[in-house]
Amino acid sequence: MQKELEANINSLNFRISKAGKTVSKNLNDIFLIAVSKKKSIEHITKAKELGIKNFGENYAQELENKAINFDKDVNWHFIGPLQSNKAKIIAKHADWIHTIDRKKIAEKINDECKKINKIINACIQVNISNESTKGGINPENLLVFAKYVDSMENINLKGIMVLPSLGENNKKQMQDSKLLHEELVSVFPHAEFLSMGTTNDFETAIVSGSNMIRVGELIFGKR
Ligand SMILES: *Cc1c(COP(=O)(O)O)cnc(C)c1O
Repeated sequence: MQKELEANINSLNFRISKAGKTVSKNLNDIFLIAVSKKKSIEHITKAKELGIKNFGENYAQELENKAINFDKDVNWHFIGPLQSNKAKIIAKHADWIHTIDRKKIAEKINDECKKINKIINACIQVNISNESTKGGINPENLLVFAKYVDSMENINLKGIMVLPSLGENNKKQMQDSKLLHEELVSVFPHAEFLSMGTTNDFETAIVSGSNMIRVGELIFGKR
């Protein structure tokens, strides 16, 4: 497993660097999250040995089961849909949440963080493809919602997360995301991250201006 993982990470880093060059970015300018959902603790341990520090998980219980095995030198990113009844677990174990998309859940996360005296990093999920099956706020509501999230004491607004649809609209939605993010940053300069790009589209994402990518299968293999 180690050899394969190492080859995958090397090849990914090469491709990130290459895409980054076209927009004057280095490997280190692109924040990499290794999406470890449905992969074992052993996978995560090996990836950590190979220099990966940020891992993404979609399910609260799975996040907890994994996070308790690692020290604070690993950062956990919750990238799955948020449910109120899971807010406590997520607040406790995640360092980042990428899927804040409504007031109720933002309040719940804020309250749970307050109880344990923690400040959590958060991206607002924006439904850039306007698909009813996807979470995220409507792009036109971003600035108002961002002001609300930014005012919360235990949430650090860090940027936005998008899941552009694959296929012919992919690039256009990425460009729209970039413009939307620029608008956000002009009001909230600390919301510096555009979390965009997965195994299937991370190079287009980087070229379009993403500075944070979430890659699973290309690192760990098929799920
Ligand atoms: C699973 C997942 C990813 C990673 O997808 P891969 O195709 O494995 O790279 C990224 N973002 C979100 C929100 C996911 O749910």
